[in-house]
Amino acid sequence: MSLTEGQRSSLLALQLGRVLFDEPMSRHTSFRIGGPVDAWVKVRDEVALMNLLQWCKREALPVFPLGGGCNLLVRDGGIRGVALRLGKGFRRLAFVRDPASELQDEGSEVDAVSRFSASVEAVGGVAEPHKESGVALPVDEDGRVRLHVGSGVVVPTLLRFCVRHGLGGVEGLGGVPGTIGGALVMNAGTHEGELGDVVEELYVVDGQERRVLQPTEFSFSYRKLVLPEGALILGALLALRPRSGEQVQQEIRELVHYRKNTQPTGLPSAGCLFKNPDVGPPAGKLIDEAGLKGLQVGGARVSEVHANYVVSDGKAQAADVLELMDQVKNRVQSIHGIDLRPEVRVVGSDPPG
Ligand SMILES: Cc1cc2nc3c(=O)[nH]c(=O)nc-3n(C[C@H](O)[C@H](O)[C@H](O)COP(=O)(O)OP(=O)(O)OC[C@H]3O[C@@H](n4cnc5c(N)ncnc54)[C@H](O)[C@@H]3O)c2cc1C
Repeated sequence: MSLTEGQRSSLLALQLGRVLFDEPMSRHTSFRIGGPVDAWVKVRDEVALMNLLQWCKREALPVFPLGGGCNLLVRDGGIRGVALRLGKGFRRLAFVRDPASELQDEGSEVDAVSRFSASVEAVGGVAEPHKESGVALPVDEDGRVRLHVGSGVVVPTLLRFCVRHGLGGVEGLGGVPGTIGGALVMNAGTHEGELGDVVEELYVVDGQERRVLQPTEFSFSYRKLVLPEGALILGALLALRPRSGEQVQQEIRELVHYRKNTQPTGLPSAGCLFKNPDVGPPAGKLIDEAGLKGLQVGGARVSEVHANYVVSDGKAQAADVLELMDQVKNRVQSIHGIDLRPEVRVVGSDPPG
């Protein structure tokens, strides 16, 4: 059900940032799939965020935090309530010991990034040649360099920052699309490392309260972050280590190159659909061995390049992908006796009727 006229005008009157009503989520996910959300709001800064959260509470509307939409399958009936995007005020990167170093992630509007996120090359490449920043690194006594990063920063911007300043620790995120907020929630990464490896603190809004979470209050594991329920992540404190910028760039490039040769690019997807089992072969191998490459439902197809990717022909519905996921899961279960768990987050509701 859409918002009432009264709700729409009171939301607009708050002047929080950009607001869109009955907005198709297919415009905000890398899969290009998803029914409408009642309201899509990009909050300008923290004050606007707090006002929005209060308003949603008053109106009893659920809030769905949205990053780049690169790990989402939104059902065809869409999302009730408000999809919340963090805007400009959440796109800051700065050394803790040198706040003057602050860099505002201006250019990387994530909507544009996620639009091309099916192309690993487009989002993962650290294309420009390595150039030292010339800024002396503020190294702490333990040899680490600490960095504040906002949830709205996109991953490629963090990687570029690390190449430029010579910082190691997040190379394993080479080619991963999306925002830092999403990457924290998903503990995104590759076999070369995950974002959670370098996180020391999380800045969150828990209820209406802004809090700094210490490591005793959260835990990262494979594609998972456990934190107080409903907490919205504003940013994180990362502990990185000085490393030659050229080496950092080289490692990221190799990873991006590897992905280009082993993963589908150019077609809408949400990355790997299933998590790898704790032991044994990865999900892609299990699906491949079950002979499922090319299996198709409607506009959704198991990729011939990497069996753990489902790609859309641009017209796929969420129902097609869900049906395909079911078929894959059942076949892998009957052939290998392994229960695949989804990595992609399935959200929203089915269409009425
Ligand atoms: C081509 C392609 C390749 C990919 N390769 C990889 C890979 O190699 N490794 C990997 O790990 N992933 C990969 N992914 C998946 C995806 O890029 C990651 O999961 C990414 O971290 C998601 O970030 P996002 O900003 O798009 O999050 P979204 O998809 O928008 O959101 C993911 C989850 O995080 C929640 N969320 C987002 N922001 C916040 C916030 N600020 N506070 C609280 N909750 C929040 C959302 O509600 C949702 O539950 C790939 C995806 C694509 C399309």
